[in-house]
Order: sequence, then C-alpha cells, then structure tokens
Amino acid sequence: MSNFKARKEMFHLPDGMIYLDGNSLGPLPKNAEACMTRTMRDEWGDMLITGWNRAGWMDKPKALGDRIGRLIGAEEGHVVLGDTLSIKVYQALASALEMRPDRKVILSDSGNFPSDLYMAQGLIASLGRGHELRVVAPEDIEAHITPEVAVTLITEVDYRTGRKHDMAALTAKAHEVGALTIWDLAHSAGAFPVELAAAGADFAVGCTYKYLNAGPGAPAFIYVAPRHAQTARPALSGWLGHRAPFAFEQDYRAGDGIERMRVGTPPILAFAALEAALDIWDEVDMDALRAQSLALTDRFIHGIEAACPDLLLQTPRDHAMRGSQVSFAHPHGYAAMQATIAQGVIGDFRAPDIMRFGFTPLYIDEQDVDLAVEKIAAVMKEKLYERPEFQVRAAVT
Ligand SMILES: *Cc1c(COP(=O)(O)O)cnc(C)c1O
Repeated sequence: MSNFKARKEMFHLPDGMIYLDGNSLGPLPKNAEACMTRTMRDEWGDMLITGWNRAGWMDKPKALGDRIGRLIGAEEGHVVLGDTLSIKVYQALASALEMRPDRKVILSDSGNFPSDLYMAQGLIASLGRGHELRVVAPEDIEAHITPEVAVTLITEVDYRTGRKHDMAALTAKAHEVGALTIWDLAHSAGAFPVELAAAGADFAVGCTYKYLNAGPGAPAFIYVAPRHAQTARPALSGWLGHRAPFAFEQDYRAGDGIERMRVGTPPILAFAALEAALDIWDEVDMDALRAQSLALTDRFIHGIEAACPDLLLQTPRDHAMRGSQVSFAHPHGYAAMQATIAQGVIGDFRAPDIMRFGFTPLYIDEQDVDLAVEKIAAVMKEKLYERPEFQVRAAVT
C-alpha cells in the first residue's frame, strides 16, 4: 500500500481545517517555498539572462511535460507546459478543426466547464466558416458521435457532478466515424490514472493548480498524439513554438512536434512551484491513489447519506463513472456550504444548488472524511444555513 500518511506531512494544511477543495486549488507543498526561493535567488538573481541556458529554463516546458505525462499515460516527448487551460483548449480545438476541413460540428456536453464552451464559441466566430458547437446531455454524447462531427471536446470528469466519461469507449466511437477527440483532464490529472496513449486520444489538455497542487494560476499542459505531432498546425503561432526561435526569421515555421504548441516565454517562477509539486507526484503509484480515492469517496457518500437525508447525491455510485469528487444537491446549497466552511470543512458551491467536495488521498484520510461528515451533519441538523451571515454571496463561490 502506498504511504499516504507520510505524504500528508509534505503539504502545508492550516490547523483545524479539513480541505476538501483540492479539486479546485491544491494546497501548498511544503518544499515549494524552498524551490521557488532557490529559483529566484540562484537562478533569476545570480544568473539573470544566462539562466535560459545555464539553468535549463528553455527546456522546462517539455521536461515538466514528461513528468505530467507519466500521470496521464502519454508517450514521452508529447506533453508541453505553458499558458492557461482556456488557451490550451483553443489551441487543441483550432488544430483539430483544421484537420477535418469538411466537417462543421464540435460536439460537447452540458457538463463541460463553461470556459471550454466559450473558447469554442470564440474560435467559431473568428473562423467564420459556419462551425456549430453542439452541446448535448452527458449521457447522450455517445449517440451524438456521428460522421458530421469534426471533433469531440469533452471534459472527462464533470466539474459539477463528478461523473466520469469512458475515455477509451468514446475515443473509439469517435474514430469509427472519422472524428477527432480532445480530452480536458482538468479533473483527471492527479485524480486517477489516465491512459491517453492506450485510449488513442488525439489531443488532451489540463491544468496543474487543481489536483496537481502547483499553485494558483499555475501553467496548463497540452498533449498531441505522436501521429499528429508533426502535422497539427498551431493557431497561436508564437515565437517559442517556431522551429528556430533564435534565427528570428520573418516567417513562421512550426516547431518540432509538441514544441509547436508553445507560444511565448514560459513562466519560470511558476514552474518552480510545479516542480516542487511534481517531486511528490513522481513517487505516487497512481493505481494505489485511485483505490484510496474510491475508498474515501465511498466512505463520504455512505456517511452523508446516513446522516443527512436532505442532501441528494449527484455523483455516480458506480466506480467506473466516478472521478475524485462527490457532489450533493440542496435547495440552500450556497448557504449550507458557507455554514460548512465556517465549521472548518472547505468545499465549494457550483450553481444552481451543488455542494462539491474533492477527495485527494495525498493529504486527506479516513479520519478527515469522518470528521467532515460529522460537521456537515451538524450544519444540516441544526439548519445553520438559515443564519443570515451565510446568505451573502461572495464573488468566488
Ligand atoms: C478549471 C477548468 C478550467 C479553467 O481554465 P483556466 O484557463 O485555467 O482558468 C477550464 N476548463 C475546465 C474543464 C476546468 O475544470
């Protein structure tokens, strides 16, 4: 069994807080401070511009990409870091649409995160070629993978409900009808083992500030399958995706393979925090992590259902269809979550009525789950959500 107890010690977790929101923003790895200080002092401070060569800054987007690649089942050399997830969605989608010039449909589902849908809408408007974003219910997606579809744009785990799609099956179906696939791994990378290569995924994107614990606004990643790596045209043709950036040629030539998905100067300081997080991830057995994640989510579901009959489970009971979060609906969900947070149990709220809790075995254990259930039960039993101070809506929910 994997040593999760020792891992918990590697994170800064405020006293008295049970943090069930690592699916939104992972906690601070204790070694991040030293890692960032070192990068600032020894590299930026002492090396200045020479750091690009001497400290290997220029190679980091791909070197770090490979460390994430292990967690998501990618072939070596086919993942690169940079920008934010929304940007990476745009890049993947633009490349994919060009590879299917005779098709006009982008297929997604209503459980997708709005930013992915917004980026698709923006791209469609810029292209002006009459593409259609077709959004269907998550359970209907398979039936809508038809020969009209150019590309599927699917987030593997629904951010609201925690419902998990069958990546291998949907990818196979897409390929059967000649469509491409883009998988958004925002709630998958670091949540359970992902097998991009085995599933035959065409493109994948994801962020590093959720389950991967690299800090607020940490850079995103993109994967392009080896069979497309030398042909996918990068829509965001920045100089660092150029074949020879320091030749300063006037015309763009796409870089070698995944390098072409780089855009501009990489965020070296943010990479230092990501490296600290990956020092922990490098040692994690993803199958053991998955087993523990399912044990924790099962335990939470059983505990809450026994103690809080007013909370309605939104997350599938079937393990194969569950990510690493659990959601319950309640008509006073927002206020109930505020009351829960006031008890030291941190989850979050997603409109219209979802209370969402993330389970992250690196730093959450059975005791945390039991204590969280106890505190949530008290909120529900004593109707603490009726108190006026919990009704006021903050900007970030
Ligand atoms: C969290 C999340 C995002 C956020 O995108 P950013 O550009 O990093 O702000 C996008 N898509 C999905 C599916 C997400 O879960």
